[in-house]
Amino acid sequence: MPDIGLPSSAERFTDGRLGEDLLWREVRIPRFPLPTPALFLDRDGVIVEERLYLSDPRDVELLPGITKLIRAARVLGMPVVEVTNQAGIAHGYFTWADFVRVENELTKVLGEQGVALDAVFACPYHPEGQPPYGQPHHPWRKPNPGMLLEAARLLNLDLKQSIFVGDKATDLEAARAAGLALGIHMLTGHGRTHEINSRALTTKDFAVHVLTHAGEAASFLAETTRHTRD
Ligand SMILES: [Mg+2]
Repeated sequence: MPDIGLPSSAERFTDGRLGEDLLWREVRIPRFPLPTPALFLDRDGVIVEERLYLSDPRDVELLPGITKLIRAARVLGMPVVEVTNQAGIAHGYFTWADFVRVENELTKVLGEQGVALDAVFACPYHPEGQPPYGQPHHPWRKPNPGMLLEAARLLNLDLKQSIFVGDKATDLEAARAAGLALGIHMLTGHGRTHEINSRALTTKDFAVHVLTHAGEAASFLAETTRHTRD
């Protein structure tokens, strides 16, 4: 039988990081004793080149400046947390095993640059997904804030002081819904087509900054947190 992410294959795939709720929670660092701000990163179009349902590790290509951004967060003591919608699993385009192969490759290429992600959260649900992944408004699927809230719960994060970097309006919407005060909209990935919708999410409590590449975000991160801490 083809391994295409249907219930049968979901049952066959066992991995401690995949919950019985079919949500991916991977935390690689200890919980912080005090609430700590994090750098949240969307994966496709922010960490790696957008491939439209990335499922082959050979297609993993880091975006320019991303290692600089992760390093900048590390210097500031901010954990780096990947939060990614993976609807390709709901649609049957690829499996959890494919997801793991892609994430392993990502860990490898980041490691070669001397950086690492501290946690990974992934949501496979989609309104038009195949069973058991078809859910109209899953709380983890961005624009809902579930992945950020779960990360905050497990790691003891200060969400208000955290920063989200995304390439879609739904990323920024999730950040705002989780109570963050700042979202960075990157013009990589789907960034150009989503720019107007992301900017429109600005409120008095939520700022949206548009930047062209992750290297720029690295400098911005250092500047912003300096002001916050002064
Ligand atoms: Mg994206």
